[in-house]
Amino acid sequence: STLDLSVLLRQVIGAAMELTETEAASILLIDPHSGELRFEAITSAERSEMEGIVVPVEGSIAGWIVTHAAPLIVPDVTRDTRFFRAVDQRTTFVTRSLLGVPLRTREKTIGVLEAINKRHGSFRDEDVLALEALAAQAAVAIQNARLFQQSDLIAEMVHELRTPLASLTASCHLLQRPELPEDRRLEIVHTIQAETARLTQMTSDFLDLARLESGRARFRRELFNLPELIMECVGIVQPQAGERDLTMRVELADDLPRPEGDRGKIKQVLLNLLTNAVKYNCDFGHILVRARVQEQALHVEVEDSGRGIAPDDLPHVFEKFYRVTDAEGWTQGTGLGLPIAQKIVENHGGQLTVRSTPGEGTTFAFTLPLPAPAAAPIITRQPGQRLPRR
Ligand code: ADP
Repeated sequence: STLDLSVLLRQVIGAAMELTETEAASILLIDPHSGELRFEAITSAERSEMEGIVVPVEGSIAGWIVTHAAPLIVPDVTRDTRFFRAVDQRTTFVTRSLLGVPLRTREKTIGVLEAINKRHGSFRDEDVLALEALAAQAAVAIQNARLFQQSDLIAEMVHELRTPLASLTASCHLLQRPELPEDRRLEIVHTIQAETARLTQMTSDFLDLARLESGRARFRRELFNLPELIMECVGIVQPQAGERDLTMRVELADDLPRPEGDRGKIKQVLLNLLTNAVKYNCDFGHILVRARVQEQALHVEVEDSGRGIAPDDLPHVFEKFYRVTDAEGWTQGTGLGLPIAQKIVENHGGQLTVRSTPGEGTTFAFTLPLPAPAAAPIITRQPGQRLPRR
């Protein structure tokens, strides 16, 4: 009866615990983006620490259940080599026994439902049957809740389409007036062009966001040259910046390592931040792009000297369709660029943040984690022995 995913998951684990008379229960779901298996809900006190923990598909009991699409009773986890110890190590919770069943929809396995620590005795066949019956209903309900999240997005989109469509309808009516002066006619044609451009941008942004939210977006993983990409993006927005007499500067740390990810999608993030830095800047302002390495991650910043964002608006700029009320009324946009950029960065394991001082400017910053450095090969040499030539 509920379509709110987190509420639903809590109800399912509560029911799982009751049905099997156990101390705790948890749900792990396969992340549609990355294919990773992740704790999504857990009934123990330390749930905030555990939710979000990624469990390896190979080398865990939950992973075994997903791969084999079959239930599994583990009477004593300490004797099972598949048991993924990281969870117990991170918390004070001690797992003793476990019963796990796959969460299956008609098409695929979407995760695992686990009941942990049988209160009296050991798990029996009835427990397996009861948990499987619950899992069958839970899997359908989880799919429905996910689909509902999608339809929510569609409802929002339809709502947003109304404004430009109303403006187009009104403009067309006005154009039909025979007595319309020429300058007014040109103004209306200009509005039509702008609104159609906005609709086009909205539909493509919307598709991007829907793909990202549903996990259908495919991400490449390749090493790419970040300085080259930054220069390419700066080159693309340079003409727009020139029109407003903005100065653009780039400061790159020496020897920036290559991040691994989807170059095309990171380009989309950079272009969005740079276009915003142009759009929301003041004439004769500046834009500064910086990149450096800190704590095993690349940090990229786009700073502008624009009008800034008020503290009340700041927490909302990553929300879908959120646009700060525009006093001058001239900036075009869909309010989807930042949520898209945020999803892309998060998909790379990074974070997109913003800081701003009204009247002075805004800085958007994102991180891209770097792969851990490979250990240098150790070459040992006996006294008198020559190292082989390459
Ligand atoms: P859009 O620019 O299409 O409206 P975004 O999602 O990219 O959508 O941005 C959302 C809102 O955040 C913008 O409408 C604007 O109000 C605010 N914003 C984004 N970037 C900046 C910036 N550099 N300076 C000031 N405000 C900004």
